[in-house]
Amino acid sequence: MPFVIPPELNPSPRLLMGPGPTMVHPRVLRAMSTPLLGYLDPEFVVIMDETQALLRHVFQTENTWTLPVSGTGMAGMESLLANLLEPGERLLVCAAGYFGSRLEEVARRHGIEVTKLEKPWGEVYAPEEVEAALRANPANPAKVVAIVHAETSTGALQPLEGLGEIAHRHGALLLVDCVTSLGGVPLRLDDWGIDAAYSGTQKCLGCPPGMAPVSVSERAREAIRARRAPPSAWYFDLAQLARYWGPERVYHHTVSCSLVYALREGLRLVAEEGLEARWARHAANAQQFCDGLAELDLAPFVPAPNRLPTLITVRVPAGLDEARVRTRLRQEYHIEIGAGLGPLKGQVWRVGLMGVSSQRENVTLLLGALREILKD
Ligand code: PLP
Repeated sequence: MPFVIPPELNPSPRLLMGPGPTMVHPRVLRAMSTPLLGYLDPEFVVIMDETQALLRHVFQTENTWTLPVSGTGMAGMESLLANLLEPGERLLVCAAGYFGSRLEEVARRHGIEVTKLEKPWGEVYAPEEVEAALRANPANPAKVVAIVHAETSTGALQPLEGLGEIAHRHGALLLVDCVTSLGGVPLRLDDWGIDAAYSGTQKCLGCPPGMAPVSVSERAREAIRARRAPPSAWYFDLAQLARYWGPERVYHHTVSCSLVYALREGLRLVAEEGLEARWARHAANAQQFCDGLAELDLAPFVPAPNRLPTLITVRVPAGLDEARVRTRLRQEYHIEIGAGLGPLKGQVWRVGLMGVSSQRENVTLLLGALREILKD
């Protein structure tokens, strides 16, 4: 077979309104084409410091250990689990969806003992339920409680206020998955007593996938310092990563300069808009979308109080070929939305209104496209 060089890249235009990635701001794309610097170039070190300061702002924290781990959101999850817990230690996972269950799966691979609470998909936990689980087994207490703030598989927003205090009262740390919430819905690490949080860049921060912002409280750092052995995941060893991202500047791995540029620009855009204004924009566009759904005789899967504004699950009407609707949206309108996962496969569509994608005109366009398709 003769070797044929494939043509130059020319992907079709897409309006990304699924569970991620989402649209990337042109300023972020421009930042990514900026010439590279070496990973210890004094100018790059300043850019790293600026990125960390911006991350502290978006996480609403003073935590020194606030840095982007190389890799997607899962790298953040794996890194925090592997650092906070040693094999044989106990993790309490409060799951109500796909990503809650991922926490269990990843933890078990690291030899961590897991107690898993499960609720039907779409529901959220009351503080008393978390406290009851922490109280249940005093002989074998959980070192960490893990919960998903914004469950992308269901579209539910887990209230977090009060959980940090409960975890601390029982001698545990609170670990939160903020992949679909950071930069899109209110999140205040320090005020809410969250000890460790991870996110991804391709959701509400409007960047490409590839970095996992994490933040770790002093209390959690203490737990990491007190480990008997270093984490088995060498690449995700936070103490080592902090030596590169902190004043020591010790080489760990060659961080992607372009992705750091992208993240810094995405975070600058968040700060320029203002966190409160950004949260309000996400809430308003979600509301507009849900109001429009009602006019199409469609309904969100999650009831209003716990509905996530950044990812809305829409019930698929009985008898409708949901995959065909998604295909038509992509082929005729260049819009991507997501399918349901796990037990919600075929039951819901997942519509992302995150970061750059959360715009009034996008909502109007998607509702109009759905109206035309459903008419047929
Ligand atoms: N946690 C949640 C809530 C997510 O939505 C995702 C991805 O969609 C992840 C974790 C994993 O992130 P990634 O796919 O970037 O590795």
